[in-house]
Amino acid sequence: MVRFAAVATRFSYSETPYRGVSRGGAHRKPPAKVGFTFDPGGAGTELNRRRFLGSLAAATVVAVGAARCMVDPQPRTFAEAPLASAPTSGPTVAGLLPPPPSTARVKLPGGGALTTLPGKGDLLALTVDDGVSTDVVRAYTQFAKDTGVRLTYFVNGTYSSWTENLAMLRPLVESGQIELGNHTWSHPDLTTLTKSDIAKQLTRNDEFLKKTYGVGVKPYWRPPYAKHNAVVDAVAAELGYTVPVLWSGSLSDSTLITEEYIVKMADQYFTPQSIVIGHLNHLPVTHVYGQLVDIIRARKLRTVTLNDVFLKTP
Ligand SMILES: [Zn+2]
Repeated sequence: MVRFAAVATRFSYSETPYRGVSRGGAHRKPPAKVGFTFDPGGAGTELNRRRFLGSLAAATVVAVGAARCMVDPQPRTFAEAPLASAPTSGPTVAGLLPPPPSTARVKLPGGGALTTLPGKGDLLALTVDDGVSTDVVRAYTQFAKDTGVRLTYFVNGTYSSWTENLAMLRPLVESGQIELGNHTWSHPDLTTLTKSDIAKQLTRNDEFLKKTYGVGVKPYWRPPYAKHNAVVDAVAAELGYTVPVLWSGSLSDSTLITEEYIVKMADQYFTPQSIVIGHLNHLPVTHVYGQLVDIIRARKLRTVTLNDVFLKTP
């Protein structure tokens, strides 16, 4: 149990995934969260604890238990669980469709936060945040290498995962397969900070990304917890961060949830023109990459970064 306690401490980080953001717009009521928060020490958690234990039992049935990932510090990479039907040659990797041609890029719509991709189409922007776990950053990056899936990482530079995985990640950033965005330096609720501290959070992270990865990531940024307001947006815009990127669907894995639930969320939200949020924080997602690719491929979606979709603003 000592090990369990250590892991539980590591997983104590949490993020509230929905703040008035749901499919179809920023002001609709969020969907009811069917999952649970792993909060072994919190008050009033008996129901959560029972759900958690129940989920462990369910996960055992599908042989991909959350219990295992809590005692298994090494994420399995996609390479260790290849898709049976993945082609070994051809224009696409792992059966995924390539991004649209650069000539198809459109102007940013402007006028507030981005929650979906504009128009009708077959695009899916899978965006993953934070980087609490260096193992998960590494596994997601390996997933991209193995399958050709295109991703946007919203980085908090404070986490060592971003320097520890630099050698593996940088070539993918340079090729454009993985795009980086600014998620602030250390993930505060920006609406509680002074203007000066809001600016410092964005600027410090901006400088870290430039220095470490050699890229400027403006105008895209994501407010932690989706918490932003007119003051925050104005400070960000002044710095060139004019496009807050929210989402239309979530894998709900900012806290520790089961693999089964992550796949259920992917099934629900991997839809055309969606922006989906996931997290680089907990291991379960690294065990279901095969299922995520299956959904993307079956629906004939093209994974895209934001730069694949939008023309760079001058
Ligand atoms: Zn975050």
